[in-house]
Amino acid sequence: MATLDSVIEELVTANRILAREEILDSFGHISARHPENPNRYLLSRARAPDLIEEGDIVTFELDGTPVDAGDRKPYLERYIHGAIYEARPDIHSVVHSHTGSVLPYGVTGWKLRPMAHVGACIGKDVPIWDSDEKFGDTDLLVVNMSMGRDLVKTLGQGKVALMRGHGCAVAGDNIRETVFRVIQLDVNARLQREALAMSQVTGKMKFMSDGEIDAWNKILTPYSWERAWENWCKRASRPYRFQPWV
Ligand code: MN
Repeated sequence: MATLDSVIEELVTANRILAREEILDSFGHISARHPENPNRYLLSRARAPDLIEEGDIVTFELDGTPVDAGDRKPYLERYIHGAIYEARPDIHSVVHSHTGSVLPYGVTGWKLRPMAHVGACIGKDVPIWDSDEKFGDTDLLVVNMSMGRDLVKTLGQGKVALMRGHGCAVAGDNIRETVFRVIQLDVNARLQREALAMSQVTGKMKFMSDGEIDAWNKILTPYSWERAWENWCKRASRPYRFQPWV
């Protein structure tokens, strides 16, 4: 069982890694379900991910109410996290990012599908949530539970949903797996774009089959992500802690 202190440290490391790997810039965020209370989650105060420290991590109720914020200002879009934890007991970490490589897929509807083996972790079907369908002309931000819950309907039982004109929401069983997934989402989006250009010449573009995606996801275990996590910790100048419980 992970302790609260270890999850907070892990969350800080995850923020630094996602900044270092250029998944999050000054915006976007990653959260974790509270290890001692499944009806709460942990998320930084509104701050750029590369600057986040342990003292920035705030506890929230699933509806987005801060428990211990004090004068620390929360992110406007924290509802993305709470809505996913509310609907999905299997999810223990959520990332919301505006990663540029992914954004064109949400705008054009060009289907994002796994094409490189590790990209299988994004799932067979990556749906697109369009806030306009229910909420009309907004600033595209998810600023209440109603919008968060609508996004979760699109996410369904998957782990990735694109957000039209905005970014994406990525979920996982734990922080390390979720970081792995959002980084591979970025890699897969870039590879697909490059392959698309070549396919104009060759007329060929072969994605992974559903069976191949299923087969790869069976090997998505700590064996897959620990090697990457240790490497990313070093690149982000954060201590690597081996976690036998993940
Ligand atoms: Mn956003």
